[in-house]
Amino acid sequence: MRECGGVRLLLVEDDPSISVPLADGLRREGFEVEVAATGAQALSAPPVDLVLLDLGLPDLEGRVVCRELRSASAVPIIVVTARSDEIDRVVLLELGADDYVVKPFGFRELVARIRAVLRRTASVPGQTPSAMLEVGALKIDLRGRSVEFEGEAVVVTPKEYDLLVCLASDAGAVKTREQLMREVWDEHWWGSTKTLDVHVASLRRKLSPDVIDTVRSVGYRYADAEPS
Ligand code: CA
Repeated sequence: MRECGGVRLLLVEDDPSISVPLADGLRREGFEVEVAATGAQALSAPPVDLVLLDLGLPDLEGRVVCRELRSASAVPIIVVTARSDEIDRVVLLELGADDYVVKPFGFRELVARIRAVLRRTASVPGQTPSAMLEVGALKIDLRGRSVEFEGEAVVVTPKEYDLLVCLASDAGAVKTREQLMREVWDEHWWGSTKTLDVHVASLRRKLSPDVIDTVRSVGYRYADAEPS
């Protein structure tokens, strides 16, 4: 079975009684596994396709590691935590984690979660041909979830990425706030839609102030590509 061939995982876990058998099991599933025993090691590790992050690390607060990893790349992150009550799901997702599992967890369950996250973020190599979305100076690799603007790589968070794809895939069309909240966040979202404005502001800062137009009291639109 070569389904996971070439998928590189970083296992961040300080307890060898967990990391050694877990890494062995994951290798038997066909993953390439690197182990980091500290937060510092995790942050200096070479790029991988997915990170499994234990929150209880000896040197750095797991949440800090999660946020740092996320600010450096769009790599999918599954957080592993010891007790369900120490985890605030919303906080974790805001820090950029894609999913979490609670110890003790079953190995099968973990593998299923890893596969689900990889499928969702479409980063399993060699499965589908690369799909590019190009609008003017913007280039999005939909399979690798990477963004380029004017030839420069731009690091975006998972939500910024989803929002950008949602807007740019129908450039010029106005998307209402409700539509964007539903498509990018959650159909059951009932919190403030302020988070949408925050993400738009961040994308404008990272790309260019004019890429996203505000359509007053309606929503937003990705600006049409004008030859400059
Ligand atoms: Ca630990």
